[in-house]
Amino acid sequence: MSLLAVGTVAFDDIETPFGRAEKVVGGACTYISLAASYFTKPIRIVSVVGDDFPEDMLRYMEHRGVELDGLQIKVGEKSFFWAGRYHENFNTRDTLDTQLNVLATFDPVVPPHWQHADYVMLGNLVPAIQMAVLAQMHQRPKLVALDTMNFWMDNALEDLKAVLRSVDVLTINDEEARQLSGQHSLLNAARAIYKMGPKYVIIKKGEHGALLFHRGEDMFFCPALPLAEVIDPTGAGDTFAGGFMGWIAKTDDTSFENMKRAVVYGSAMASFCVEKFSIERLKGLTPAMIAHRVEQFGNLVRVDLG
Ligand code: AMP
Repeated sequence: MSLLAVGTVAFDDIETPFGRAEKVVGGACTYISLAASYFTKPIRIVSVVGDDFPEDMLRYMEHRGVELDGLQIKVGEKSFFWAGRYHENFNTRDTLDTQLNVLATFDPVVPPHWQHADYVMLGNLVPAIQMAVLAQMHQRPKLVALDTMNFWMDNALEDLKAVLRSVDVLTINDEEARQLSGQHSLLNAARAIYKMGPKYVIIKKGEHGALLFHRGEDMFFCPALPLAEVIDPTGAGDTFAGGFMGWIAKTDDTSFENMKRAVVYGSAMASFCVEKFSIERLKGLTPAMIAHRVEQFGNLVRVDLG
């Protein structure tokens, strides 16, 4: 099954307590598409870059089965740029800079032969653009998931609420779930967000795992795998979303049971992502490496309750 993904393709400056990386490849759509490419093909992306974006990265994405017909390359313009600094515990970060550049005037065009996608991942970017992509679909996809962040809650809340009415799954981190819902309890936050549209709400809690809620009632929890070394958490949320939707598209099954599995696959992909800067750890994974990680997640929680 094909997966249509939208989001930023970008450059990042990243500072962590252990090091820094300047002008490295990032962007929500980059992480989503690379993670999903380990499960299903083709991945079709709708995004925009300037002519400063490295050609060899685009070729690598194609090599991974990512189709770029919906990627606009703006000559003479600069790609989206984000700079962030992580705190000591890695669970919180400050955004130091966000330069929209090509994103400021981006008018997304979904190529006609992509307008029947079964699965759509609306990765983090301007909510009005997420909406514009959804509006170009010829039929209602089987599942639409959306990821967003506090930047858009602060800058485009009404547009975000409008697009939320049309999606099935929202992936969001815990602090953003609290901000969006005005509720401190994550259960109450999930219930409030369910009323805004998404039947499924996935609340990501960084190194403390992820919670999946269905209709604000049924719950599932997947821990994060304790790792010896975390180098850079950037993109973990997008990688999670890519692994999650990649699994759903591969299996073509949107049941709650299968979503639980998808949460584990998403978490496994995110656990790779944080082991190196930028997208480096998402290169060259094998099915055996992913299967081994997923098994480690299973072992982490499997217990005979007697
Ligand atoms: P994550 O760590 O999963 O939240 O994703 C980090 C990625 O999101 C980085 O590679 C950034 O380029 C990208 N990003 C940061 N801010 C935004 C924003 N406001 N809209 C879209 N993408 C963003």
